[in-house]
Amino acid sequence: MSLKVAIIGRPNVGKSTLFNRLVGKKLALVDDQPGVTRDRRYGKGRLGHMSFDIIDTAGLEEVFDNSIEGMMRQQSEMAFEECDVALFLIDARAGLTPLDNHFADWLRKRQKPVYVIANKHEGINQDPGLYEAYGLGLGDVAPISAEHGLGIELLYDILEPHWKEWKDGVRDEKKKAQQAAAEAQKDAAAEAGDDGFDDFDNEDDFPDDDGETFPSFEIELFEDDEDEDGELIDEGPRDNSKIQLAIVGRPNAGKSTLLNQLLGENRVMTGPQAGLTRDSIAVDWAYEGRPIRLVDTAGMRRKKKIDDRVERLSVADTLRVIRYAQVVVLMLDATNTLDKQDLTIARMVLEEGRALIIAVNKWDTIIDKSGVMQALRDKLDTSFAQAKGIPVLTFSALTGRGTERLMPTVLDIHDIWSRRISTSKLNRWLEVVSERHLPPVISGRRIRLRYMTQAKARPPSFFINCSKAAELPESYTRYLINGLREDFDMPGVPIRVNLRSSD
Ligand code: GDP
Ligand code: GDP
Repeated sequence: MSLKVAIIGRPNVGKSTLFNRLVGKKLALVDDQPGVTRDRRYGKGRLGHMSFDIIDTAGLEEVFDNSIEGMMRQQSEMAFEECDVALFLIDARAGLTPLDNHFADWLRKRQKPVYVIANKHEGINQDPGLYEAYGLGLGDVAPISAEHGLGIELLYDILEPHWKEWKDGVRDEKKKAQQAAAEAQKDAAAEAGDDGFDDFDNEDDFPDDDGETFPSFEIELFEDDEDEDGELIDEGPRDNSKIQLAIVGRPNAGKSTLLNQLLGENRVMTGPQAGLTRDSIAVDWAYEGRPIRLVDTAGMRRKKKIDDRVERLSVADTLRVIRYAQVVVLMLDATNTLDKQDLTIARMVLEEGRALIIAVNKWDTIIDKSGVMQALRDKLDTSFAQAKGIPVLTFSALTGRGTERLMPTVLDIHDIWSRRISTSKLNRWLEVVSERHLPPVISGRRIRLRYMTQAKARPPSFFINCSKAAELPESYTRYLINGLREDFDMPGVPIRVNLRSSD
C-alpha cells in the first residue's frame, strides 16, 4: 500500500517520460501487475525520501477509440478512480488544445486533488502553454521538463503533503490495528497465563521524519543528468550546468581581442549547432571547471574584408545571438560609450529575458576614469530602471587588465538569473509588501493580492493571483518588481510579474 499518483493528460504531452523519470532509469520501467488491465502501467516512484505508486495512462489512446469521450472515460476514469492525487500534464511549448480543455473541465468536477503540470518547459523558450494553463481553473501550474529533469522539486512540493497525510493516516491505522491486536493478545494471554510481551513494531516501513534533513533529490535522482541541457534549478549551491554566453557589441569594440584574452589558444570550435543558422559557430570552453558555450559571437567569425568593419551591426543577427544565450556581455568602447545602438542591444537583451553584463573596454585609453564611469552609470540608471544594478565592468582586453573579473561576474549573474524562491517565502513577502503599501481601491473595493508563486526561473518570473488584475496600476507592479529585486537580492536581471484574476 502506498500513496497512488496518476499521470493524466492527452497523448504526447510527456506522460511516459515523466513516469520513467519518477520511476528511475535504474529500476524496472514497467511493473505489470497480474490481474489488472494491461493498459495501465504501474511503477514505484521516488522523490527524495518519498516513495509512492505511479499509474501511467499512456498508450491507452491506441487501445480505445479516439473520441474525446471515449478516451476520457476509458483512460482517465480508471486511473483517476484509483489514485489519491492526479498530475494533469499539458505541453507548455505547444500551448493548450481543445482536448486539454476537455480534460480540465472533467477534472474540475471531481473531488480529488489535481495539479496542473506544464511539461517541456526548458527554461529559455517562450512557452505559451505555461501562462494559458493558469486559465484552466485548476490552480497553480508547475513548469517542468520531464525529459531533462527540470522543476522536479516542484513535484516534490506538490506530492509531499499528500504523502505525509497518507503516511500519517496509515500510521494511525496501523497503530489502531496494533492496539487492537495487543488487546486481543492480552486477553488471550490472560486466559493462557502468558505475560503477553510481543512486539508489533512495524514502524521501520516508514523513514523517520523527525528532524531529518531531506537529501538533495536533484543529486540523488538525477546524478547522471549532466547533459548539455542539464539545467538544474534550485536555490542550493551553484550547479554545474553549461552556461551559454554571448559577447555582443558594435564592430571594433574589442570582442575578438577579448576572446583571445579569455581563451588564448585554448579553444574548441564546434560546428553549427542545431537550430542556429549555417554560418553560426560556437566555442566550447570551461572556466574553472564550469562548461561555457560561447554562442555565435561575431568576433569569432573570420573577418572577411576590411570594409566589413564599417558595416553596422545587424539587429536581426544580434537578436538571434541573444536568443541563444543565457548571459550576454555587451561590449562598449570606452571612448564612445552607450550610443543609440548600444542602448538598443541592451534593451533587447532585457526584453528577451537574458542576464546582461556591460563591459567597458579600452579602459587603458581613458584618463578621466571616474568621470566616464559616473556618466555611464547615470545613463544606465535612467535607461534601464527595470533592471537596476546591471553589472558594469571596465577593463582592457588588449592588456588583459581587469578582464579577470568578467567570468566570476558571469557566474554570479547566471546564478541570480536562475534563482528560485519558495512559494511560502513569496507569500510571506507578498503579505508584508502589500501592507506596507496598500494596493489602490477600485470602485469602492481594494484590490487584493491573494497568492504568489514563482512560475519559472531564467529569468525569475512570478505569478500573482489578485482581484481586478487589469486595474492594478503599472506603478504598483513596478513597486513589486523593485521590492523583489531588493528583498531577494536579484540585481541586474530582468524580473517578470504576471498578474491574473481568478474571478
Ligand atoms: P505521452 O504520450 O504523454 O506518454 O508522451 P511521451 O512521454 O511519449 O512524450 C511525447 C514526446 O514528447 C516524446 O517525443 C518525448 O521525447 C517528448 N517529451 C516528453 N517530455 C519532454 C520534455 O520535458 N521536453 C521536451 N522537449 N520533450 C519532451
Ligand atoms: P571587434 O570588432 O569587436 O572584434 O574588435 P577587435 O577585437 O577587432 O578590436 C578592434 C580594435 O580595438 C583593434 O585594433 C584592437 O587592437 C583594439 N582594442 C581592443 N581592445 C582594446 C583595449 O582594451 N585597449 C585598446 N587601446 N585597444 C583595444
